[in-house]
Amino acid sequence: MKITAVKTFPITLTVKPEFYIVSSAGPHAISRYVIVAIHTDEGLVGWGEATVVPLWSGETQGGATALIQDYFAKCVIGRDPRDYKTLLQEMDASALDNHFTKAAVEMALLDLVGKKEQKPIYELIGGAKNSLQIPIKFSIGLREPEDAAQIASTKVQEGFTAIKLKVGPDPEKDLLRVRLVREAIGDKIKLNVDTNGGWSVEQAIHEIPRYEKFNLAYVEQPTPRWDIDGLAKVRSATGAKIMADEGVFSYWQAEEVIRKQAADLISIYPGKNGGILKSQQICQLAESAGVGCHLGSNLEWDIGTAAMCHLTVASKNVPVKTFPVDILGPLYYSVKPQQKPICFQNGHVFCPEGHGLGVEISEEELKPLATPNARQS
Ligand SMILES: [Mg+2]
Repeated sequence: MKITAVKTFPITLTVKPEFYIVSSAGPHAISRYVIVAIHTDEGLVGWGEATVVPLWSGETQGGATALIQDYFAKCVIGRDPRDYKTLLQEMDASALDNHFTKAAVEMALLDLVGKKEQKPIYELIGGAKNSLQIPIKFSIGLREPEDAAQIASTKVQEGFTAIKLKVGPDPEKDLLRVRLVREAIGDKIKLNVDTNGGWSVEQAIHEIPRYEKFNLAYVEQPTPRWDIDGLAKVRSATGAKIMADEGVFSYWQAEEVIRKQAADLISIYPGKNGGILKSQQICQLAESAGVGCHLGSNLEWDIGTAAMCHLTVASKNVPVKTFPVDILGPLYYSVKPQQKPICFQNGHVFCPEGHGLGVEISEEELKPLATPNARQS
């Protein structure tokens, strides 16, 4: 099997206004992503999704499209997708970082290999260690506290057993949001906060104890992504359970977080960590150090979400029952793939069955989503 073409589709998705996310890192109301289709001489097509958000990783829709067409396509055209490990090394040798863009190409390669070998991706990467029915949480942005409580209450009625709240810029309002949500959902529902790096070390040490009475499962990325010493200081000073998210894009950052005992949990996901395989490497490293992992999100559409599901299913060190994961992107969009959208029910996501990613897309259905005047290679 040989790769014959790499196509890119810059698309724009609008987040449902009722769930529009604002965090300490900024607003996320519009998603300008790139869908990748890798074609082969056997007629199989592999799909990938570059969930690029400039404020998150510095990657953009135009940049991702250019990198895929001008660099990564040259690495893979004429090659066999089953040599994906070598192809991914060659991509790494042709461009630094660009994690979300590389993840999209890897996703499409693994989708092809799964289709060729008639296996789901989780089988290709080690087999099922978690159930295909994955408990998830619902994430609520910096909304008015009463609004947040209303949304949380509705989601719990729908079957969610865990809620995540953004906090950071307004200490009193943030605290009120958490209090009203805790009152609305009761004591049995898991609750955590995500600061997206919005507190200084001193603020975090001051603020976190004020949340103690709300029985938080953990505090996610309280301090800036670059300050791993600061994160370790916050964990040691407050005794709170800490999750590193923005602080761990790469394997070496995970090593540093572990070495400095800066976190109890590390958030991983294919986009942020440069692919399913690199996420798995971080997950295995964390496991050897007794640190659990968790699936974070950048509001993926269904293709990126499928990749997250397969990674979760294949990862023993992602304790989904204790810490339901953030595999939730498609819930925030009205537009869904026409054939096999990801299924969500009662606070769970279902890892798609089928070969490869288990999600089917047609070029035709992407046309109405095309970003006007985007770079089209
Ligand atoms: Mg986070």
